[in-house]
Amino acid sequence: MSKQFAVIGMGRFGSSVARTLYEMDYEVMGIDEDEEKINENIQYVTHAVAADSTDEMALKEIGIRNFDVVVVAIGADIQASILTTLILKEMGVKKIVAKAQNERHGQVLYKVGADRVVFPERDMGIRVAHNLISANVLDFIELAEDYSVAEVVVSPGMVGKTLRQLDVRARYGVNVIAIKSGEQFNISPRPDEVIQQHDVLVVIGHNRDLKQFEEHA
Ligand code: ATP
Repeated sequence: MSKQFAVIGMGRFGSSVARTLYEMDYEVMGIDEDEEKINENIQYVTHAVAADSTDEMALKEIGIRNFDVVVVAIGADIQASILTTLILKEMGVKKIVAKAQNERHGQVLYKVGADRVVFPERDMGIRVAHNLISANVLDFIELAEDYSVAEVVVSPGMVGKTLRQLDVRARYGVNVIAIKSGEQFNISPRPDEVIQQHDVLVVIGHNRDLKQFEEHA
């Protein structure tokens, strides 16, 4: 059986997570204390339930333990977000993913048992900033503190050259892990692959090296 998800908090972030999972044919339960949020989202999730997630009995009744992943998408009410995460952990939920407003909130969420903490506003800010530095950067995802993956549109100077000729590993210290060419996605490009106009390179590397590559390549 495929994974079952529960999302607590049907704000902008939570409803987006829930709807996306539902559209990918996963079973998703949406939970919010606000009836209106439940009504707004009822057709985009498998089940929608009005409940206060800081109420342990309410979570027991829902059978929250049976879900493979529970996403805590409560933001503004930091106390409710922390308390909910703690209760889920104590109830033995297998995997808890929680949204944090800021670093401090994130640290506390890890302490009370979150398996993964996400910072949507911070991460989106980072992605937008990279796109502002260079319009050629389509996307930027942090993998670890100093390492990321960037999607970069090829510059006119690269067109017609092979990966070997570009030699980005020696020149910038980054690695091309894939080339998107229109609808085609080449995930193991060979050194003699010729770069076409409008191609997008997926590059991995140290943030410092990616910056050089974004600005100068
Ligand atoms: P977003 O940016 O995703 O819109 P946010 O960070 O502003 O959200 P909130 O609006 O505070 O976060 O919370 C998201 C949702 O969580 C709201 O719809 C709110 O009703 C719900 N929520 C808050 N506390 C609880 C709770 N204790 N139990 C259930 N739902 C809750």
